[in-house]
Amino acid sequence: MKHKKFLIVRLAVPVILNQLFDYLVPETILSAEIKIGLRVLVPFRQKEKVAIIIDITTETEIKTEKLKAVIKVLDKTSLLNSKDRELLHWLCHYYHHPIGYVFCNTLPSLLKKGKEAILKKENFYSLTKDGLLLDARSLNRSPKQQFFIKKLQQAKVVHEKTFKSWDKSWRSVKTALLKKQWLKIEQRFFTDFNPITPLKELELKLNNSQQQAVDTLNNALGDFNVFLLEGVTGSGKTEVYMQLITKVLIKNQQVMVLLPEITLTPQLASRFKSRFSVPIVIFHSKLSDKQRLQSWLAMQMGEAYILLGTRSALFTPFKNMGLLILDEEHDSSFKQQDNLRFSTRDVAVMRAKLLNIPILLGSATPSLESLANVEKKRYQLLRLPQRAGDAKAPELIILDIRNKRMQQGLSTVLLQKINQTLNNNEQVLIFLNRRGFAPRLMCYGCGWVARCLYCEANLVIHQQQNQLRCHYCQHQYLLINTCPACQKQPLNPLGLGTERVEQLLNSLYPNKTIIRLDAETTRIKGRLEGYLTQINQGDADIILGTQMLAKGHHFPEVTLAVLLDIDSGLFSLDFRAAEKLAQLIIQVAGRAGRGSKLGTVILQTRQPSHPLLTLLVKQDYSKFAKEALIERKLALLPPYSYQALLRVEGDDEIAPQNFFNALKPLTEKYNQGLVLVLGAVAAPMPKREGRYRFQLLFQSEKRMVLQHFLTQLMPDINKLKEAIKIQWSLDVDPIDLY
Ligand code: ADP
Ligand code: ZN
Ligand code: ZN
Repeated sequence: MKHKKFLIVRLAVPVILNQLFDYLVPETILSAEIKIGLRVLVPFRQKEKVAIIIDITTETEIKTEKLKAVIKVLDKTSLLNSKDRELLHWLCHYYHHPIGYVFCNTLPSLLKKGKEAILKKENFYSLTKDGLLLDARSLNRSPKQQFFIKKLQQAKVVHEKTFKSWDKSWRSVKTALLKKQWLKIEQRFFTDFNPITPLKELELKLNNSQQQAVDTLNNALGDFNVFLLEGVTGSGKTEVYMQLITKVLIKNQQVMVLLPEITLTPQLASRFKSRFSVPIVIFHSKLSDKQRLQSWLAMQMGEAYILLGTRSALFTPFKNMGLLILDEEHDSSFKQQDNLRFSTRDVAVMRAKLLNIPILLGSATPSLESLANVEKKRYQLLRLPQRAGDAKAPELIILDIRNKRMQQGLSTVLLQKINQTLNNNEQVLIFLNRRGFAPRLMCYGCGWVARCLYCEANLVIHQQQNQLRCHYCQHQYLLINTCPACQKQPLNPLGLGTERVEQLLNSLYPNKTIIRLDAETTRIKGRLEGYLTQINQGDADIILGTQMLAKGHHFPEVTLAVLLDIDSGLFSLDFRAAEKLAQLIIQVAGRAGRGSKLGTVILQTRQPSHPLLTLLVKQDYSKFAKEALIERKLALLPPYSYQALLRVEGDDEIAPQNFFNALKPLTEKYNQGLVLVLGAVAAPMPKREGRYRFQLLFQSEKRMVLQHFLTQLMPDINKLKEAIKIQWSLDVDPIDLY
């Protein structure tokens, strides 16, 4: 007897099990409504979940009576096209991450929750034909109307918000103009624009190296190729990006521009908005859910042409992408460090490959990975060796502070330099990569140090809040004054934090404007943008901050940049520490002297003859990189080998040990001696948030060998009963071993 064929969908459901789930399509849903890439609502373990259709079939291994049915189809058209889906499938395989998680959790949160995928239209105001032809002088007796007509004749189309901002009386003017049929209001996604002339302002005249970069890429549009643009700080990489974007827009294609930090988006967005007349959208985690959904849909539907975003923007579907740009490609913020641990750069390269388009990676201090890829001829190197315009490279000075008089960590010589700069009415930038008042609270009597109860970590003093804080678990404690161990001695702050330096600067320069930029001072929405505008308007004398200052900002008035307390980076056990420190120094130095005045950079150190510092004084990053690559090669470390780190945590130390014991026969079975297995060992931070942490490192000289091994091993891990009591995660291509 022949069975009736049922329509079955294979779904990605957001759960950690790495498999698809089959569901029946009930007869109430037409087969034409079912397409790959649509969201559906399904019952899953007493709950309803939003899932994505990955496949449509009539076969299943599950008995028909056991199959559950789809409750509802949520979309009319597919959210993800075949290339988008291909990328996500690749992600699942390469990072060994559950397919349901990858497909569902890379959607904007409103879509994940099942909300409608509708791009909201907005009101745009423009003049009718009569309105346009009107002689505004004839309105002398109604000056408000005259004012609005003149504005509209000039602007052609404006957003409702702009119209309202022109005058308080916009409401009555609007009524009057509508009545006279001079004004029309239309609902659109964005203002009209003409992709043939996407430019609003004149482009700068490029110098030779810039021109060469633009020409090379322009010729390469339409094919997959990876370009590494190594341009010294202030060499005009942004201008290269913009002129390339113009070329892509003329072809009526979209561009994705990724930045490592949210803090960099406002400045670049405003530069783009004054250059291009096309709709530009922004995507990062500080936007509201609604804003993110709008940006996502605008790109997916092809209504917007440029997407500017951070790593979370990487999976935004595009209708027709022509170019991918990743600025500051060396930056570690491009690596996602939890859940799906991916490298934005590597996934972006894969995306460009699937779409057969070029990708441009830009940096003044390229990652050793990318430089090794240039060496292997996988990436093509383009260089901008000089600063653009009139700006000159800054001078770098190493300031030896051994046995020098210091005030709260700042030496007298340094303070003199700061004085001088301020007296010239120029801006000073001070970089210190530690927030809070001081990183340690200590008793000089008995040696007691304030530690977190839940982590193997010192507590950081936050004096303004009268707190001690753990920067790992965010636990807060009251700031105490006397030693709890010996009960005799007062406690002392040890080391430097931004809050402490700010206090000193405030007392030394009461009449100067000092801006502190760190996670504390920019927590409130809009604060950071406010500070950045203030700095750019020249309304700041000293800018003090953490790593958010080190990245791509363009502050033309800064002539002195200072790096405090970098010595710890010279003695780190992490094999990437030297690379990170070199990048940091060159990047911070790059903030000085970007305008017409010459810049100076001062590095305070107790290690003035350390070879890394003496090399970097010459500001020869390429030379540093060459030497560092040779060292890596000799030690067979990445980029000359490939790693994956299995991290394990448990409520105690025993469960992880049991897990590793059970895992051992499996790793031996699949390994066959080709993969180096190191560990298991306690993590560098053995306890965090009350959990005990261990790790096992896999390494191979061949990516394929490592991948093959992982592909065999990973499905077996979840089957181990010892895995129930622990939590584990796999980090493929880890950038640190913490
Ligand atoms: P980068 O991103 O490489 O650090 P930017 O793109 O911010 O550098 O450029 C630094 C400054 O140089 C900016 O003020 C920019 O307008 C200017 N600039 C860039 N290209 C040119 C050019 N071809 N001629 C004159 N000025 C330029
Ligand atoms: Zn004590
Ligand atoms: Zn803690």
